[in-house]
Parts: sequence; structure tokens; C-alpha cells
Amino acid sequence: MGSILIEISRSGNKPHEYKNFSMTKIPKEILKNVFGFDSFKTLQGEIIDHAVAGGDALILMPTGGGKSLCYQIPALCREGVGVVVSPLIALMRDQVEALNQLGVRAEVLNSSLTQVQIRAVEQKLLKGLLDLVYVSPEKLLTEGFLNHLSQCKLSLFAIDEAHCVSQWGHDFRPEYLKLSVLKDRFANIPRLALTATADGPTRKDIIERLDLKEGRLFISGFDRPNIKYSIVSKDNSKHKLLKFIEDNHVEDSGIVYCLSRARVEATAKWLTEEGFKALHYHAGMDKFHRQTNQDKFLKEEGIIMVATIAFGMGIDKPDVRFVAHLDLPKSLESYYQETGRAGRDGLKSAAWLAYGLEDVAKISNFIESSNAKEGQKRIERQKLDALLGYCETTRCRRQVLLEYFDEKLLDPCGNCDTCIEPVKCFDATVATQKALSCVYKTEERFGASYVIDVLLGNNTERITNFGHHKISTFGVGKEYSKDQWRSIFRQLVAKRLLLVDIEGHGGYRLGENCKSIFRGEETVLLREEIFSKKTGRSKVKKSKKQKTHTTLSNKEDENLFQTLRTHRLELASEQKVPPFVIFHDTTLLEMVQTRPATITAFGQLSGVGKAKLERYADSFLAFINKSM
Ligand code: ADP
Ligand code: ZN
Repeated sequence: MGSILIEISRSGNKPHEYKNFSMTKIPKEILKNVFGFDSFKTLQGEIIDHAVAGGDALILMPTGGGKSLCYQIPALCREGVGVVVSPLIALMRDQVEALNQLGVRAEVLNSSLTQVQIRAVEQKLLKGLLDLVYVSPEKLLTEGFLNHLSQCKLSLFAIDEAHCVSQWGHDFRPEYLKLSVLKDRFANIPRLALTATADGPTRKDIIERLDLKEGRLFISGFDRPNIKYSIVSKDNSKHKLLKFIEDNHVEDSGIVYCLSRARVEATAKWLTEEGFKALHYHAGMDKFHRQTNQDKFLKEEGIIMVATIAFGMGIDKPDVRFVAHLDLPKSLESYYQETGRAGRDGLKSAAWLAYGLEDVAKISNFIESSNAKEGQKRIERQKLDALLGYCETTRCRRQVLLEYFDEKLLDPCGNCDTCIEPVKCFDATVATQKALSCVYKTEERFGASYVIDVLLGNNTERITNFGHHKISTFGVGKEYSKDQWRSIFRQLVAKRLLLVDIEGHGGYRLGENCKSIFRGEETVLLREEIFSKKTGRSKVKKSKKQKTHTTLSNKEDENLFQTLRTHRLELASEQKVPPFVIFHDTTLLEMVQTRPATITAFGQLSGVGKAKLERYADSFLAFINKSM
């Protein structure tokens, strides 16, 4: 289906009307005419050539890397309809909406449609009137639909979020396993599997289970240079979060992740009381309520979504400016995936995490008490260790994170907390000896709070009951505060000098490598926390703070940006679509910076293809001209 049809109707409620633009089948021209971009991002060009030639592939690219074009452009170049398998309804709807805005004939087929709607889409499919169809795996795998497909001309299959096929991954979906049927039934149709989950076992699983051994593997760098990573200790975490948002993200969209549903609700309530537009989302809410909140997050500006990890996969919102974790994520993969939802549009964004020992105990318990086999538990323990190592690192966080995904970043990034404020280390050999010895003398049964009380010589009732006020390590640690000791214990856990008890009480055991420390044969260097003297709230009230876009330098630009944003929101509400499917922030910023005065100049903007030029140039130009 080499022809692209530009939709003329300007209202989302009117039936679609199309005007046929004769199109070439040259990827580069489709990139410009349909998507409005001048050049391919890394690997896109190569992948597209491979797919256009009919090859299979596994494509690993970070979020925001530009995976969609890797199958959308080949689907437009090759004859027939491209079938995209995607696990989440919200994602499909947004992608199709965005494609329709570009004049591409795309439709969704999943359980959210009525029977009549399904039949209408199937008719279009059979008549060859679609460039792309997005289907859920359940729908795709029905015998009826597979039969339909065998009567159609197919350009390719794209399997999005392909890590769902792997049990090692965090989003395993049993129905993905059955997608191997595509190879058997449609042997000559290229299959492209795409994911942003990078680790080795998952990769191997995808290739085996989707039978992609003969295809090519494309791996692009996993770095997300526009995301600034920072980690704080968990004491006072609510205040720290508030300060982080007030200082950096007033009026921005963001996601705050919490572990439990109760904490999600309480946090959303608290942020609302603090004057933010906060909503909540977790799997315990009814479908309608969940859907409403998700829609608001997508369609309104400046909303903070407080959620469990039930929220996020398939959220394609490009302008999420921060992702904050109030609780520790499950692994570095989860952390990378969840924080990766920030800044898809490439603009400056932040990942913030509050981390404490209680989380480590919680996750350890979770692992040990699960019904998983020992092999699986071992992998999960290793994953937890890697995560702790990351939290406690004194090196550039980005380097540590990327190394985990087998990627080397030569120089420190300059855009993470440890780069911006280098961590000072101190010789903690004696402190470590005291801590380990105190764990040993209290019989390896207690967690941080108790052992620290013993070190500080606090005569609590519990300590007296156990007789631990009489042991030699009682009160030997008074040179450090409670917070400092907590930091020391966290680091000893991260170094595996202490192990969190596997019986589930969260107490410590000594690690195997403790002996040389007791003998004084090894020096232990630990990071010196920048201990906050009770983080005070910033005095400035949110409402009085002027929000300025980081990339805009003057008031006039800022005003124009806001005007264009408001206009975009009006157009979006009229059509009942999220604002970002009209134009991304990046395109609006370019309008502000280059102030195009003519249609031709407007057409040069990144993200303005022929369809959008026709639909939107006039009204946006009017606002831009007025401002000059
Ligand atoms: P992914 O699915 O890998 O997370 P997307 O396909 O959503 O990434 O693309 C991320 C962003 O990059 C989108 O805003 C998209 O419009 C933009 N983009 C993709 N390819 C290009 C390109 N060649 N030039 C400019 N922007 C691009
Ligand atoms: Zn760094």
C-alpha cells in the first residue's frame, strides 16, 4: 500500500475523508512527507532498509529511541497492511490517533470495540484499505482473525513490547508465547520484534520463543542522555520529593511510583493538598476510574500521576518531565524501564529515587517467600544486589546503569547527582568492624534499627530484655548519628558484607567476605552522605513561582510557548485526542525559536509532515505572526 491518504476532515467526530497524495516508496521521503522529519535517528535507516527488503529482526532500542518508525515506514513502503501486535489498549489507541493525524490509514482491533466497529475495521482490512492495523495478541490469535489475515496482502508483522514473551521480564504475557504461530502460518512475511528491555536472558528468550534466529539483531545504545538521575536517602522522603518538584517541576507532568495501593492513594491526596494536580492509579481501582485518571493524565497538562507499577507500560506520553520513585523498584531493569517514561521527546527530564533499608528487607522477603524455584530466586537476588550497588555507587550513575546492560560509557556523564556533586569517601574500616561485630554479638538476628541502637548505646527496653546492654559493642558507635549509621549499613548491604536475613525477619547475617575485615587486612571506603539537617521546605509558594521552560530564555518566548500550548490544547479537546498527537513540545519550541512566517517555513519544522501542514499551519502561523 504505497499510497498515503491525507485526511481532510478537521473534526474527530466527522467520518474520515481522505485525499489521495501520490507517494513514493522511498523511506527517506516518507520520513519527510508523512512524519515531517529530516533524518533518521541511529539505526532507524538500517533497520528500515532491512525490513523493506523483507528481513526479520529483533530491535532493542531505548524508550524514546524511535522504534515506531522502524515498522511504520516499512509498512508504508511495502505492499499490503502492516499488523502491529501490542499488549496495551491505551498504547494502540494513541499510536493510531497519532497516525491518523499524519494521514496514515490505521485502525485498532481489540476488546474495547463494539461488534459493529470490529466488523467495519475487518471490512476495511479485507478490502485493502488499511496501511496499519494494531491488534491485541488475544484478537490476533483467534482462528477467525488469522483466517482473515490469510486472505489479505500483508506487508509485515511488528511485535511491540516483545519482552512480554519472556518470563524473566517483568511483564510476562502467556499469550505472547503463542505468537510463534506467525512464522508457521505466514512464512514469507517479515516479523519485527521490538523492545526497550535490554538484558541478556530476556534477549535470548525473545529470539528463541519468537523463532527469530534467522533474523538480524539491532541494538542501539541504551543511554538516555536527557534524563538526569538522582538518588536520595529515604529519611524525610516526602519533604524531599516536595522540594524536588517545587524546585524543578512546577506545572510539569510527572509520575510518582509507590509500592502499595494504600501509599499511592495517600501520596496523591497529600500532593493534592499541597496544591498539585495529582491523580492516582493502581490495579485495585475499578476500570472506569482507572481509565478516567489515565485519560486525564494524557489529555490535560501538568498532571502528576501517583501509581503502582500497574501504570505505565504503553503510556506513550512524550512530555513526562519527571519520574520519581518513593519506594525502591524491583530491579535495575524495572528502574530503567520506569524512569525511561520520562522525556521521550528528548527534552530535559529527571529520574528521582528515595531509597532506604526497609525497602531492601521488603524486597528480600518478597523474593524468599515466593513460590519460585531456587534458580529463579537466585537471579532475583542478583538483580536486587545490582540495584543496591547502583544506589550506593560513588561513580557516575549513568556509567553503572549502562554497564548493567553491557554498554560502556567512556566518560562520566555530567548529568547525574554523583557527577554534579561528586561523592566524598571516608575510611570506614573501623566503623565497618564495629557494625559487623555488633551484628555478630547480637547473634545475627536483628535489623538496622536495633543494631544501631546498640551501637549508639541506647538503653531501650528491648535491648535490656535481650541483655545486649552488656555486650562489648554497646555504645561503641557514638561518633556517628543514627542517619549516618543507616547509610553505613545500607552500603555494607550493597557490598554484601551484610546479608539481609532470608528467614524473612529482615535481620542481618554476616557476609562471607567479612573475615579479612575483622583481621584488618582490608580497607573499607564508604561514601560520605551529604547529611541533610532536616530538609526544610522551600519558602516560596508554588503559585508565586514563575514557571519557565528550561530551554526558553526570555519572557516573550515563554508567552508565545504558552499561547501555542493553549491553542494545541483547544484543538486536542475539540478532537478528543491528547495534545501531543497534534504537535510535540519539541515542535512548539521550534516554532518559538524560529518564528516561521510562511507556510513553506512552517513545513520545515521537525514534526510537520504534509497532513499536519495542511491541517494546522494556518492557525499556528496566525498566533506566531501576532507575536512578532
Ligand atoms: P519508542 O517507541 O522507541 O519509545 P517513539 O517511536 O515513540 O519511540 O519515538 C520517540 C520520539 O522520537 C517521538 O517523539 C518521535 O516522534 C521522535 N522521532 C522518532 N524518529 C525520529 C526522527 N527520525 N527524527 C526526529 N524525531 C523522531
Ligand atoms: Zn554521571
